[in-house]
Amino acid sequence: MSRKALIAANWKMFKTPAEAKAFVDAFLPLVAGHSRDEIALFPSPVLLPTVIEAAKGSNVVIGAQNIHFAPEGAFTGETSIGQLKAVGGTHTLIGHSERRQYFAETDEIVNKKLHAALENGIVPVVCVGEVLADREAGKTGDVLKKQIDGALVGITAEIAAPIVIAYEPVWAIGTGKTATPEMAVEAHKIIRAEVAKLLGPAVAAAVRILYGGSVKPANAKELIGQEEIDGALVGGASLKADSFAAIVKY
Ligand code: PEP
Repeated sequence: MSRKALIAANWKMFKTPAEAKAFVDAFLPLVAGHSRDEIALFPSPVLLPTVIEAAKGSNVVIGAQNIHFAPEGAFTGETSIGQLKAVGGTHTLIGHSERRQYFAETDEIVNKKLHAALENGIVPVVCVGEVLADREAGKTGDVLKKQIDGALVGITAEIAAPIVIAYEPVWAIGTGKTATPEMAVEAHKIIRAEVAKLLGPAVAAAVRILYGGSVKPANAKELIGQEEIDGALVGGASLKADSFAAIVKY
């Protein structure tokens, strides 16, 4: 089964609106007509209207780095899915390791967010990955299965089609250390097998699993070029238009 790759930029807490607009203006001509892969940008919430307006009519979709699972309410500092949709956002990251690590996001919260995204027609990119101690203790597979099991509680094959999973080994995020293609492929196979166990072989064959962790122009091809790797989630190397375009066009 051929899966269309998704190459996604996680800008984290970087860029002003002016910088974000300058990025989009420089980036769009570099990827104009590129249809082999889907391209997504995940800016901070305050940048969403600027980036969505600047990318209107292009081949680039825009999403949030995080959403709350409640439709609205007294949740200071959070962004609702309704707010994301109202400004034209179509995707969201869920359970990025920085959310899990610094904002106490649990598998249970990830699961609630996943349900909320699917119920509201937002494409969810669910992030999973082991920390270095897990890998060194030989627990990578167990950690990935637990995170996938937790994320997918109550999700059925009928509603699962939009789900994207990003495998992001935490030790490779922002560190310059990259999983070897072999390590990434092994982890992706574990994730796909777990999805097959929970949602059946058809969903597992179709689900896109991205790799994230210090992807840059120099290593994009050897990673994304693997049959098992259906795109990339890119942090640091997505902040400059030419660098992210080079990854998209690996
Ligand atoms: C990320 O933030 O999802 C990420 C993979 O970051 P980096 O590419 O900088 O490692």
